[in-house]
This record gives sequence, C-alpha cells and structure tokens, in this order.
Amino acid sequence: MDLATITRFLPDEDATLQLGESWAATVMPPLVVYLQGDLGAGKTTFTRGLLRGAGYKGAVKSPTYTIVESYPLPRFTLLHHFDLYRFASPEEWQDAGLDDLFASNCLCLIEWPQQGGTFVPAADLTVMLEHDGTGRKCTLTAHTEKGKKSLETWLN
Ligand code: ADP
Ligand code: MG
Repeated sequence: MDLATITRFLPDEDATLQLGESWAATVMPPLVVYLQGDLGAGKTTFTRGLLRGAGYKGAVKSPTYTIVESYPLPRFTLLHHFDLYRFASPEEWQDAGLDDLFASNCLCLIEWPQQGGTFVPAADLTVMLEHDGTGRKCTLTAHTEKGKKSLETWLN
C-alpha cells in the first residue's frame, strides 16, 4: 500500500547527494528503505549523501561485491547498505545470514531488493531513481505510517 508519494527532479550528482544529506537530520531507525532504479541511477550516490549528512567521514564503497557495508554513526546504531545485484538466487539472503542485521535498531537501505525475493523485509519507504535527460527523477513512496512520518518531516 502506498501512503504518500513525493517526486523531485535532481539535475546533477550534487542534487542527489544533497537530497540524501537532507534526510539525515530527521531520519529515525528502525527503518527499511528500498533503493530502486537501473545501474547508474544514483542509488549509491543517495546513500553517500545520507551518510555524509549523518556525520560519517570515511569513504563510502558500493556494496556490490560485499553484499552489505555497515556504518556506525554518531546519532544512531548502524546504517546497513545492501546491494543484492549479484545474487544468483534469493536464497543467498539466508545463506549470508542477512536477517540478523535487521534485529536491532538500524537503518537499512537495500539496492536491488527484488533479487532477494520474499526473504527481504518489507520496506517502510522506497526511493526510486530514474534517468531523466542528463539528470534524475526521484520518486519517494511511503508504504507504512513510520515511512510516511519520516517523509513528511524530511520534505515538508
Ligand atoms: P547506482 O548505485 O544506482 O548504480 P551510482 O550512485 O553508483 O548508481 O552512480 C550514479 C552515477 O550517476 C554517478 O556517476 C553519479 O555521479 C551520477 N549521478 C547521480 N545523481 C545524478 C543526477 N541527479 N544527475 C546526473 N547524474 C547523477
Ligand atoms: Mg549502487
């Protein structure tokens, strides 16, 4: 079910970084976020912006090969950044023991969640990025009340 949808045009990489960064001030775990969009749409860029906004100073690697990168943050427990692109089958979710990472008070962002099938926990929010000219169209959709609240405090 979709409870709210907001669309933004992001003309360049900086706009994607800033959108992610601007969420850091109000985002509250636990929250599950699906990052949807083709290769190169800006999913990792958005996560990098959010991490910067949350005070993370180090490098942000794409988790394409590691499946998940986890970041301790000053304001809340952990941010887990997943990328399931390389999954050969959804069962890899279980083989990798990824459910354990959802047990605590964490913010979980998942690129290519559809690759994990029904093993992947349901999303509170979806961030969808699509090519639009030389920029990107970003559609933010809330699926739960928690997601809707976060969206409203972030962008209103
Ligand atoms: P994904 O994780 O979706 O595969 P990345 O974030 O790794 O994509 O890469 C996205 C690419 O697109 C990067 O080269 C980045 O500089 C660029 N990019 C990100 N946001 C925008 C935007 N709003 N407009 C134009 N280019 C962008
Ligand atoms: Mg990526």
